[in-house]
Amino acid sequence: MNTQTKIAALILMGFLTITSCGKKESGQVGEPADTTETSTEGEAAPVTSTAENVLVIEGNDQMQFNTNELKAVAGKPIKLTLKHVGKIPKEAMGHNLVILQEGTDQTAFALKANDAKATDYIPESEKASIIAHTKLLGGGEEDTIEFTIDKKGSYPFVCSFPGHVAMMKGVLIVE
Ligand code: ZN
Repeated sequence: MNTQTKIAALILMGFLTITSCGKKESGQVGEPADTTETSTEGEAAPVTSTAENVLVIEGNDQMQFNTNELKAVAGKPIKLTLKHVGKIPKEAMGHNLVILQEGTDQTAFALKANDAKATDYIPESEKASIIAHTKLLGGGEEDTIEFTIDKKGSYPFVCSFPGHVAMMKGVLIVE
């Protein structure tokens, strides 16, 4: 019975070792609690190296983003999540996040977007100015997008829902 328990623990540890990106077994056998702790620490390093490009921004029912500045590192994939933390449906209080090329006029872009209801306010005519964008979200929804910006700089972003650019805009600083 005791041996079986140990074997089961070993199998579990082996599984954990495989799933935690090849963490090295220290040689100690039969101490699953200790191993679990160590493997968590072992995982931390690789996660941290990309964590700086994991961005989360919120939009609310007061037509506001919770920040007007995002920061990321050039040349590495950026994982950006927009959360609509309000309750109002997207028809009335829709939010998206559109990252624009450097130097794009946010207000001028938003004016073009006003006419693009059919494409959730992403104007086809301005595609060249768009680096990436989320879906249009209503209250309680969220969307995550991934993109990479190779060139360091300041990239304006907006919510392109009609009228929102006045309040909902900011800059993504890529360093
Ligand atoms: Zn909005």
